[in-house]
Amino acid sequence: MATKPRTTSATTPAPRANTAKPGNSPLIHGQLPYVESAGEEYMAPRQKDHFRNILLAWKKELMEEVDRTLHYMQDESANLPDPVDRASQEEEFSLELRARDRERKLIKKIDETIKLIDEDDYGYCTTCGIEIGIRRLEARPTANLCIDCKTLAEIKEKQTAG
Ligand SMILES: [Zn+2]
Repeated sequence: MATKPRTTSATTPAPRANTAKPGNSPLIHGQLPYVESAGEEYMAPRQKDHFRNILLAWKKELMEEVDRTLHYMQDESANLPDPVDRASQEEEFSLELRARDRERKLIKKIDETIKLIDEDDYGYCTTCGIEIGIRRLEARPTANLCIDCKTLAEIKEKQTAG
């Protein structure tokens, strides 16, 4: 409740030394895209660190977002005299809460994914076992299916849903 608002500069991650040209590659939750060295093994320790950093930074962003909303709602939930204002505020709050609910689920998924890294199970398709690949994981750090299995799963989902 009494947490002081943070300055924006404190949330900006410090740039890390990297051979990749800054400004050229989009950051992934504050991290530069991974640059593989020749002959590097898939999910070598440096790769695992890379994805752990991405997941932790992402989680931090989400938790700050949840925090911000709660403070915002506490500040804004004044007694509005106009019932129309009140109704639109309630509508706004319920949308916010739904968004926060999604974020909380995502945070849980991120935690589970970090556990996979710790258990050396990260980066492999849970259906067919092949390597998911660094670029796909950077685009979707919580992915646990390769692109083929994911596509198949989505087709099946559509069939059972329709
Ligand atoms: Zn697969």
